[in-house]
Amino acid sequence: MAAVRLSNHLLSPTRQILQNGSIRLACLNLLRNSSSFKAEDIEIELAKELRAKPDPDKLVFGKEFSDHMLTIAWNKETGWAKPQIKPFQNFSLHPAASALHYSVELFEGMKAYRGEDNKIRMFRPEMNMKRMLRSTQRASLPEFDGDEFIKCMKKLISIDKEWVPYSTTSTLYIRPTHIGTTGSLGVNTAADSLLFVILSPVGPYFPTGFNPVKLLADPQYIRAFKGGVGDSKLGGNYGPTIMIQQEAVKQGCQQVLWLYGDDHQLTEVGTMNIFMFWKNAQGERELVTPPLDGLILPGITRKSLLDLARDWNEFKVTERTFTMAEVMKALKDKRVLEIFGAGTACVVCPVDSILYGGQTLEIPTMAEGAPLTKRFMKELTDIQFGRTPSNWVHIVE
Ligand SMILES: *Cc1c(COP(=O)(O)O)cnc(C)c1O
Repeated sequence: MAAVRLSNHLLSPTRQILQNGSIRLACLNLLRNSSSFKAEDIEIELAKELRAKPDPDKLVFGKEFSDHMLTIAWNKETGWAKPQIKPFQNFSLHPAASALHYSVELFEGMKAYRGEDNKIRMFRPEMNMKRMLRSTQRASLPEFDGDEFIKCMKKLISIDKEWVPYSTTSTLYIRPTHIGTTGSLGVNTAADSLLFVILSPVGPYFPTGFNPVKLLADPQYIRAFKGGVGDSKLGGNYGPTIMIQQEAVKQGCQQVLWLYGDDHQLTEVGTMNIFMFWKNAQGERELVTPPLDGLILPGITRKSLLDLARDWNEFKVTERTFTMAEVMKALKDKRVLEIFGAGTACVVCPVDSILYGGQTLEIPTMAEGAPLTKRFMKELTDIQFGRTPSNWVHIVE
């Protein structure tokens, strides 16, 4: 308790009040409302000229952006400014901005999908907001009302709706970002921040069919550690992985399998959560994925696959740590059925081999055509594109 009391003065006034259980409930709504921007205050400046939309079949991830962007500035003294939608443009930043020096930066990744009914949908955006607010706290940036932010994003998407590809495979990638903008070299809580959203039309992840990937598993590199920030989408987690990704490509692999600990636990694949479908040591069919123990980014795709599989109730579904030794033993016993990554970009991505300790382990994911991986792909994209009705989607318009 002493530790809690001592650290209380370091928390924002909002957090201090929220920690006081007795008035927490009464104040929650009031605080949320008074300490956030509101979608109804949006100011809109439309672009004078709209750019030609790219061919949905020739999109390269993250290279093209829509005509408009959303920005919302915050200052410690004046609070949140009114949200602004304006033509896509460069920022002007103080060269000492904390985002540039200390990675006071976090982001989200989500998509808007155009259905065959021409309606545009978002997939479980409230879960992205929950995660974004956690990352925001971890970066000591100011909190806001996630529902209001979703409303602002919907407005932006509706203004740029022609940028949502007319396609059942291409989508509009949404990149909400929050950066510290205070121009001061002190490693301190930012006194200014900028929340913004940019939109980028993206093509199908598998343009030539369901292509399995080969992974480099090299235990000398780790992505995250216990007590660290691997479970938050902070920019600082990603820059340092680029070199290892290049190393993977050099060794003939497409992605990195991130191991952890002396027992070489499997944690994530690139920027995807990892799943293994196997017959466990007891001979039961089981879907396993590592638990949210601080190392793992809590993926919305991960959660959705777990929800679907538990709902089907056809095999065991378990969140637990598993190691390379277990995978190798199960491969030897022919008990591994499928291994795949899961994330917003690809939905699911089958794995057909792992380069580990100089040895290539063949994973039989595609042996029977990856039936479970494919079923997840179909079920989730059917929901996202509105072919299966679901309360997981929000209609934008
Ligand atoms: C974003 C991300 C994921 C996937 O999360 P989704 O919400 O499913 O897109 C998984 N692992 C890492 C490291 C990530 O950054």
